[in-house]
Amino acid sequence: MHIDTKHVIAQIQREDHDSWQLMQSLLNDLGGLAQEADRLGDMPEHLWGRVPVGLLNRMNLPVVHGGLPLTATAVRRCVVFEQVGRVCPGLPIGMPGPGLSMPPVFALGTPEQQSSYFARFHDESRPVWGAFAITEPEAGSDATALRMSARRDGDDYILNGNKCFITNGRRADAVVVFATLDASKGRFGIRAFIVDKHTPGFSVDRCEDMMGLRASQLTALSFQDCRVPASSMLGHNGKRGPLIDAFTGAQSAWDYMRPALSAVINGSCFGVLDAAREAVSGKDAGLSTLQAQVVQRDLKVFQARLESARLLALRAAWRYDQGQRASLDASMAKAFSSTLSMELGQYLSHHFALAEPGQRARFDKFYRDAKAFDILEGTGDMQRLMISRAFDPTAEQAA
Ligand SMILES: Cc1cc2nc3c(=O)[nH]c(=O)nc-3n(C[C@H](O)[C@H](O)[C@H](O)COP(=O)(O)OP(=O)(O)OC[C@H]3O[C@@H](n4cnc5c(N)ncnc54)[C@H](O)[C@@H]3O)c2cc1C
Repeated sequence: MHIDTKHVIAQIQREDHDSWQLMQSLLNDLGGLAQEADRLGDMPEHLWGRVPVGLLNRMNLPVVHGGLPLTATAVRRCVVFEQVGRVCPGLPIGMPGPGLSMPPVFALGTPEQQSSYFARFHDESRPVWGAFAITEPEAGSDATALRMSARRDGDDYILNGNKCFITNGRRADAVVVFATLDASKGRFGIRAFIVDKHTPGFSVDRCEDMMGLRASQLTALSFQDCRVPASSMLGHNGKRGPLIDAFTGAQSAWDYMRPALSAVINGSCFGVLDAAREAVSGKDAGLSTLQAQVVQRDLKVFQARLESARLLALRAAWRYDQGQRASLDASMAKAFSSTLSMELGQYLSHHFALAEPGQRARFDKFYRDAKAFDILEGTGDMQRLMISRAFDPTAEQAA
């Protein structure tokens, strides 16, 4: 594998010059947004009149459903999302578009389900979000333990249960919700349903007051006798083969998103390193001469580790694009980036503790975001567990 980031950017510019230009002007415009969104705990409303919502809505769509060449491959998404993360790490998480709901609909949906679900993101006049709801109060790291039930009733299914920590849950036009037909069957009892936000029985209970990634709007959802048509169920009838169960659809979302998420984290680290380098040479940093020298040296070591993190994300993305199994690479990339960003956050908060408040606020926010990044889409502990299992020689012998 050889990936030259400059070559990827040149390719994007050739194939999708307009979107590339729009994105660059969006990034220029986002400068002060990160702090404002952090203060509000939401995306500021005035943003939608200033940014190209049509571009954001379509960024994560599959190309066959109107997605953009800009983000057509996992490698391109890594390159683009690293740039966005450099300016504002919360934005890619709270950004309009289908987000994590895209992969299960694409992997499990019939052609009709895909067309009707993805068509809503072609709206150029307003931001449109999708959401992905699998986590429950008693089923987080082990999502197969979910208890939300789906019961067949004539031509419909009735959903009952609660979901928590769902990104963009209040903003979403529709949510891809995972529920079980029979909890005793574990992952094989699980099905996914597309639930429109106006469906009676579906409600958003609250938005959490988050420590980090505050713009991403984390919500608790409830479903009480929520009736949805059987045609909204994804991956049924075994039409796409018995191995494509709904839980595999959820896993495809994580394989798809983790390299891009790792790239966002890396971008936010590159951005904060720039800020730290600038701060350390100024007089507001509150550092002694010796401490400033030590910090300058350590920032270079962080930079080197960050280059490795970037390579891991690109390798995971490249494998995904080749149609290879990319789960292990995606876990390694995400675990490495999020651990590195938490270490960097801790380091900066420690050394810049006496810095001028505006400067310190930037580093403190980075640290808070880093912790949230370590939890979403599988905690660092779970990624390390998957890595240790994959490298277990006894498991290899048994296989
Ligand atoms: C910002 C953010 C956005 C999110 N967005 C979404 C979303 O859009 N949709 C969605 O469905 N969910 C979402 N989540 C939920 C997220 O996927 C879960 O929080 C995560 O999977 C962990 O589950 P939990 O919080 O229940 O923790 P638990 O599973 O209860 O874990 C608690 C602690 O125990 C550790 N742990 C658990 N099991 C093991 C084990 N076997 N070995 C070692 N350590 C273990 C964990 O690492 C963690 O530190 C989001 C979370 C965050 C923070």
